[in-house]
Amino acid sequence: MNDSAAGGGNGGDGVARTPVGDGTRAVRAGLPEPVKHEPTLPGPVFAAHFHLPGDPTGPYTYGRDENPTWTLLERAIGELEAPGAQDADGVETLVFASGMAAVSSVLFSQLSAGDAVVLPDDGYQALPLVRDQLEAYGIEVRTAPTGGDAQLEVLDGARLLWIESPSNPGLDVCDIRRLAEAAHARGALVAVDNTLATPLGQRPLDLGADFSVASGTKQLTGHGDILLGYVTGRDRPAMAAVRSWRKIVGAIPGPMEAWLAHRSIATLQLRIARQNTSALAVAEALRGRPEVTGLRYPGLPDDPAHAIASRQMRRFGCVVSFVLPTRARAERFLDALRLVDDATSFGGVRSTAERRGRWGGDAVPEGFIRLSVGAEDPADLVADVLRALDASAH
Ligand SMILES: *Cc1c(COP(=O)(O)O)cnc(C)c1O
Repeated sequence: MNDSAAGGGNGGDGVARTPVGDGTRAVRAGLPEPVKHEPTLPGPVFAAHFHLPGDPTGPYTYGRDENPTWTLLERAIGELEAPGAQDADGVETLVFASGMAAVSSVLFSQLSAGDAVVLPDDGYQALPLVRDQLEAYGIEVRTAPTGGDAQLEVLDGARLLWIESPSNPGLDVCDIRRLAEAAHARGALVAVDNTLATPLGQRPLDLGADFSVASGTKQLTGHGDILLGYVTGRDRPAMAAVRSWRKIVGAIPGPMEAWLAHRSIATLQLRIARQNTSALAVAEALRGRPEVTGLRYPGLPDDPAHAIASRQMRRFGCVVSFVLPTRARAERFLDALRLVDDATSFGGVRSTAERRGRWGGDAVPEGFIRLSVGAEDPADLVADVLRALDASAH
């Protein structure tokens, strides 16, 4: 898929302002104006403090507040999350030490005692821990499953609706635009966890959300070697509170991680093109297997989420989930894979899979497998998965 919508961005390179495709936008995202004898993407700036004679005015004062390497990365992510809607429209991106730092910064900066929040009951596995902490602070937590619009029944009087679509690990999808309209009609803000889709797969702000929040640890950076998070938002006061929270808790990325993330985003469209196409091929191969049940991939035409997913997503992700008959069968399958590492997380160039039930916490069957498709040759991967299924039969 190629997107030719008007490009935006304040990268200053001109290219981001003309209509470009996603590959072009990704390779140029956040680059500064070219300067003779300077590198295209300036290296990481390692500084705890910056020269600051006189009145302490920004942008760069102290390393917990701002860093030039973050600034370029924040521009890059902003250009992908909200092309054409940068500073002028009040759209802002903030980077964090991890996805959870970003998630927590939105929740804890927007909610206070007496407020109510709606969370998914089938979302990321740390959400129940967050729930306990929110409740300890006197915030009312209501939950609803991702699919099926049950959020509508618990929205009245809520201050924030939290959506994770597609959800991890169940890969369910909800109608973001519809839920955002309902939430706004009741005066609630809307945050979407965009980790699984990435900004090239889905743009929550275009669908009406106030915040797009994500773990950059996964497919956004895609090499399984850094943790990162970000928040892109359009509501200035709300984003000012998120920025203040980052400063208060100090949940900031290191300059090296920020620079590696920016470098990795250059290949985002290439990685996604390979990984997501292979994920569909793997899902199609699994569909023909009698021992596989509960197969989910939003890109499969007969997936229960496909109709909504194809309305709001431009790409369907690199994660496939399915269930094998027993825990033992699932463990033998994982053991038998040669090209797929038995490891958690997802989105990396090297395929990984795990039996999700080993963690506890997710409401999934014992034989539930979450498979993250990497950048290997698709035929090799499909062959490895089918061979491991055969080998795990007994
Ligand atoms: C991994 C993940 C997170 C947390 O991100 P970290 O970078 O591990 O802190 C949040 N939401 C979703 C959907 C995730 O998959």
